[in-house]
Amino acid sequence: MHELAVTQSLLDIVLKEAGKAGAKRVNTVTLVIGELSGLVDDSIQFYFDFMTKGTIAEGSMLHFKRIPARMKCRACGEEFITSPNEWICPKCGLWQAEVIAGKEFYVDSIEVDDADKSA
Ligand SMILES: [Zn+2]
Repeated sequence: MHELAVTQSLLDIVLKEAGKAGAKRVNTVTLVIGELSGLVDDSIQFYFDFMTKGTIAEGSMLHFKRIPARMKCRACGEEFITSPNEWICPKCGLWQAEVIAGKEFYVDSIEVDDADKSA
């Protein structure tokens, strides 16, 4: 469980970007999460709800884009998508794959209300 630390740095980014944009409110934050990052959507949302209280991001929604684990076989060069822990090359059957995608975690986009659009 490292969602707490991850969510803290996520919030830092969101508030910094929203501040730069002169936002009054953060509506939606879209995150990219790799399947192999080990991060749990629900935990991040839980911490995020908690940490955003009293900030302009309070009540904002998190959207998650999942990136499947993508592997490349070191033996034959085959690239394949697989579930974690099944790293056997479907082409040559060797267990020599390396991860080329699936460990991502970053903010994809932040949707805000700007200063002129106060409700
Ligand atoms: Zn192979």
